[in-house]
Amino acid sequence: MANHLVSGLLVPDAVSGHLALELANTRAGWGSASPREYLVSYDALVVWAGDVGHLTAAETTALRRLAARSPRPADRVLRNALALRETVYRLLAAPAAAADPAAPAARPGPAGADLASLHGVAARAYRSSRLVVLSDGRVLPDGGDEVTSGLALPLHRSALAAAQLLAAGDGGHVFACAGRGCGWLFLDRAHRRRWCIMAICGNRAKAREFAARTRTRAGSLDRPGPPPHDS
Ligand SMILES: [Zn+2]
Repeated sequence: MANHLVSGLLVPDAVSGHLALELANTRAGWGSASPREYLVSYDALVVWAGDVGHLTAAETTALRRLAARSPRPADRVLRNALALRETVYRLLAAPAAAADPAAPAARPGPAGADLASLHGVAARAYRSSRLVVLSDGRVLPDGGDEVTSGLALPLHRSALAAAQLLAAGDGGHVFACAGRGCGWLFLDRAHRRRWCIMAICGNRAKAREFAARTRTRAGSLDRPGPPPHDS
């Protein structure tokens, strides 16, 4: 978990290795009692989407202006984005496989209700889209623009990214950070990565393991030894 400031708003660092997973990482502490929320407003959603690459600078500016004029619709889009994030997380995170290279084969397949939910958003996104040719030659829907998708543009682009990750068969290469109280997702085709950020979650875990070993050693030294034998 790490973050930085953009336009005065705190946004999470993009460390997942796939644009589709960055939405899931706008919340930190999945499964914990006190998660950290980055999408605290529609403005935060747009600023995050611009920072991570879902929106151009011009789109970001246009949507921030549009939201300032239409706060209620913007709030609705934010709620839909938070719901999509839950869906994406359930579809792509596999708690049983949390960064454990031995576990991916045991992970369950995506749930039908979540796939239907993702499809609903992706279908709206597709209807607002044009097909565009990317620099690597792939042809994909663009999620629309600030006119055809309006305030929902970051939602549309996030849904399409998640659908494309699943379509590429990469769902089995997504893992949750093993750091306590983290839960950030990342793509790891080599199945070797354990942490979202080694310098943060990895080092914290190592410090905890070191402290636990030290306590165990100190405890065994404090305990009285067995009574001496008579012989
Ligand atoms: Zn982490």
